[in-house]
Amino acid sequence: MRKILVAGNWKMHGSKTMVQTLLEGLLAGSTADGNADLAVFPSFPYLPLAESILSGSHIQWGGQTLNPNVQGAHTGETSGGMLVDMGCRYVLVGHSERRAIYGESDTDVAIRFKAALDAGLEPVLCVGETLEEREAGQTEAVVARQLDAVIDQTGIDSFSKAIVAYEPVWAIGTGLTATPEQAQSIHAFIRDKLSSLNGIIADSLRILYGGSVKGSNAAELFAQSDIDGGLVGGASLTAEDFLAIYSAVA
Ligand code: PEP
Repeated sequence: MRKILVAGNWKMHGSKTMVQTLLEGLLAGSTADGNADLAVFPSFPYLPLAESILSGSHIQWGGQTLNPNVQGAHTGETSGGMLVDMGCRYVLVGHSERRAIYGESDTDVAIRFKAALDAGLEPVLCVGETLEEREAGQTEAVVARQLDAVIDQTGIDSFSKAIVAYEPVWAIGTGLTATPEQAQSIHAFIRDKLSSLNGIIADSLRILYGGSVKGSNAAELFAQSDIDGGLVGGASLTAEDFLAIYSAVA
């Protein structure tokens, strides 16, 4: 059985006050034996605060990206080992904003995926098509290409220690959500593709949906057989909105 994971990507939002209020709210409104696991992805400066508030609790945390090098002359960058040192369990790799704004190619993403595993982190591999690609009927080809880059780099076995997030780019931060059927069909495509390489790993892999998830649409999305939770941006920034998604898990 795959347990639902509700993960909050805070992007470049936050302040010490906001982080404190939000995390205390999440701790008060969720439990270790709830129907879903919870995780948050703060900006790097707030990781120590998240660690001090969440240590020993049922809520996990992670970084939003990592530099694939172990250490060295990489001004402004953060390594996987540093994230582990901050108590992170997870790291996002290949978020569409990293791909589109910061020019990360499929190969860059695959290298980061490997670096995350090497550091002892669980990578959350984000894949998804743009609106143009969807309208051109290329959704499956794009997602397959993004997955293949990682499989070529680390092999199918590496997915036993990873999570995949399907995030159609046109649904991120736009208020547009894929219908549960649209999302389910790509999630099933991802699972089938990985299953052709290793059925056991594909069966136990958590595949999250991301793209304008909120309290009002989460239950229907998470009820789909291949959707194992959500990667949530905007609605993860207040405890009330994030807990509305957590509470929607049946
Ligand atoms: C995201 O950033 O991964 C995301 C899905 O954002 P939003 O929920 O705001 O669409």
